[in-house]
Amino acid sequence: MSDPLKTPISITRTETPHARPADNALSFGKVFTDHMFIMNYNADKGWHDPRVVPYGKLSLDPATSVLHYGQAIFDGLKAFRGADGKIRLFRAQRHAERLNKSCAALCIPTLDVDLVRRSFEAIVGVDNEWVPSAPGTSLYVRPTIIATDVALGVHPATNYIYFVICSPVGAYYKEGVKPVRILASDKYVRAVKGGLGEAKTAANYAASLSGQQEAEDKGYTQVLWLDGVERKYIDEVGTMNIWMLIGDEVVTPPLEGTILDGVTRNSVMTLLNDWGYTVSERRITIDEVMQAGHDGTLREMWGTGTAAVVSPVGELGYKDDKVFIGNGGTGALTQRLYDHITGIQYGREADTHGWTSVVDVPAAAEKQIA
Ligand SMILES: *Cc1c(COP(=O)(O)O)cnc(C)c1O
Repeated sequence: MSDPLKTPISITRTETPHARPADNALSFGKVFTDHMFIMNYNADKGWHDPRVVPYGKLSLDPATSVLHYGQAIFDGLKAFRGADGKIRLFRAQRHAERLNKSCAALCIPTLDVDLVRRSFEAIVGVDNEWVPSAPGTSLYVRPTIIATDVALGVHPATNYIYFVICSPVGAYYKEGVKPVRILASDKYVRAVKGGLGEAKTAANYAASLSGQQEAEDKGYTQVLWLDGVERKYIDEVGTMNIWMLIGDEVVTPPLEGTILDGVTRNSVMTLLNDWGYTVSERRITIDEVMQAGHDGTLREMWGTGTAAVVSPVGELGYKDDKVFIGNGGTGALTQRLYDHITGIQYGREADTHGWTSVVDVPAAAEKQIA
């Protein structure tokens, strides 16, 4: 059934497959599957030689440019084993498109989106037995691009590697969705307009560590990022997009250059519109949110991202002030979003927007959930 016009992806299988950990022993990103996808770029050939090979080490010269100047981007999506045994990737196309947007932001040559999507399908297909089946578990898929010029001059590289690795991950919420405590930082900044905030790049994660560390030192789970210029508008929470239900208005900050265009953000926006909510993509100050918290109109607050889907906020700290949101549990709308999105991911809920794609595996490899 393969399309002769499509670039062929060669597959070399491992001769030493590993045992997969039990589903209940899985955490996040510590164990990797038996194979990886890899593809190279150089100025002559462009992106070439797409292949699935045994998982293994990369050998890099110490002068490799990514190690010095951080020209690196990545993305993250998941494959789920449904109750029907089928394996579904969630929004593979949109993740492939975003990978290219990140490339453009860091002067990395873009890829054929169709080939990127096929790279996800190829690696998950080959490692299909690694997709766990216990409730809440999934296979995390991590495409990454690094600059591999061996030189210390500062300029966009002319050699790159694209690779995709996969990790079976445990349920994010082992005992039900649980609210977190977050601290708005007026000291650290994640991104500024004209910078890299819109890209999924290693640099943004490096830039987030001090602020995150400070929030943890003060007893909070995550840092709430404010804009880098006026230090008053809410940007993101940790590495998630942020949402608030104030009265009957759902508010999320607009994509104006500092915020990552989350795939979960887009899914949540689409569902809220389907359900008839008023969704405002607007700038919102930390003062407005604290005020809404004090006068009781801040009904729910949550973050969104691939790892957790939703992460409810139960407490928000800012300077010497703090507000509690809800009654220590998860808000009704936050829970509804979680249930609906995970329902689509595991094939329990109708996928009316065509967000999932079933991965081709030999029929014998489809397993029922116990
Ligand atoms: C990955 C990421 C998100 C969430 O994006 P999803 O596509 O929903 O996983 C949000 N903010 C930042 C900074 C991120 O890196």
